[in-house]
Amino acid sequence: MGDEPEISWRGAVATMPQALVSIVVAMRRVNHPHEACALLFGHVTRGGSGPVIEVKAVREIENLVRSPVAFEIDPVVQYQMMEEEKARDPPRSLVGILHTHPGNQFVSGTDVKYMKNAARLSTLLWLIAGDGKRGELDIGAYIVDGGKVREIPLVYT
Ligand SMILES: [Zn+2]
Repeated sequence: MGDEPEISWRGAVATMPQALVSIVVAMRRVNHPHEACALLFGHVTRGGSGPVIEVKAVREIENLVRSPVAFEIDPVVQYQMMEEEKARDPPRSLVGILHTHPGNQFVSGTDVKYMKNAARLSTLLWLIAGDGKRGELDIGAYIVDGGKVREIPLVYT
């Protein structure tokens, strides 16, 4: 594996089962007006047009700072969840992180800073859940590609 070229995110898409959306709606409501956060577990596979980040599980994790504009998670709890997911058959890996906004799902300045730091810790996918245009939940999918934050399509399966 060591001789593989650096991964290209060209054409990347994220997928998530529609059934998981209700989990996100509930955690956003329960934590309002604070941000809620969750770890995303699944797999990265290769699709026809590029990498596919497949979210298979959304596991809520406490927002330690209880803030409407920021979140922070306990690395020990994160590690425990990662170990549990690794022990499953088949195993699932950490593919990203989700957090909610009390308002819209656009990337905030704080998010950009955090995303670029977290990219070094190989957090791939950022899902941000907020208000859609008609009051429904809207989830934006973002990756850091070539040092820049870029929105990618989120496909519900
Ligand atoms: Zn945010």
